[in-house]
Amino acid sequence: MNEPRDHCHRCGNCCLKGGPALHAEDRELLIANQLALAQLITIRKGERVFWPGDAKPAPTDLELVKLKGQGGDWRCLFYSMQTDGCSIYDYRPLECRIFQCWAPDKLKDIIGQETLTRNDLLHPDDPVRAYILHQEQNCPANRIDDLTPDATPDSAALRELQELVRIDLFIRSQAIGQLGIAPELELFLFGRPYFIMLAPFGLAAKETADGIRLEPAKVP
Ligand code: SF4
Repeated sequence: MNEPRDHCHRCGNCCLKGGPALHAEDRELLIANQLALAQLITIRKGERVFWPGDAKPAPTDLELVKLKGQGGDWRCLFYSMQTDGCSIYDYRPLECRIFQCWAPDKLKDIIGQETLTRNDLLHPDDPVRAYILHQEQNCPANRIDDLTPDATPDSAALRELQELVRIDLFIRSQAIGQLGIAPELELFLFGRPYFIMLAPFGLAAKETADGIRLEPAKVP
């Protein structure tokens, strides 16, 4: 029988499930160059996320900025498989310092409190803000939950999702082309591409001569 825990056994499970969302006091890590914007990903308002303790993902009504994943999943960018540990342990963000898997309520107390957004981390005059606003106004992430239940072949819902995928890709390419943005900043500035967010709903984007088409994803 497993002994009850009262300290960290360095199993790494918390880091394998995803990096932390950043809070106001984590801004100091960016100011001190201990973290960089290229190491962050934005979770847009309306995207589905796993909240601590929840079995199912649910849409967030807050924009969040998290540490990126690695290896194509949510395993924290700073988790080292070689050492089974955190490679930025001395300056890990607030949620990592507070989280204790044997006492998860401590983290629950700060979830969603004073969390950082993209605009908190961008200069007020940064021209990319206009592109982010354009994205939020013209392809909000919460349309995914609204539309996917009705997105049957040839439906209006599917056509609207296709248009949202197209607009999202257009805004990203315009920002990168016109402002010379480094590609590694894309996930921080614009979050995950719309077509990637649709994959868990069984929809795959395909480029055709007539533009983007959404089709049922092939089951591997
Ligand atoms: S920053 Fe470190 S402690 Fe926090 S999730 Fe990543 S690897 Fe784990």
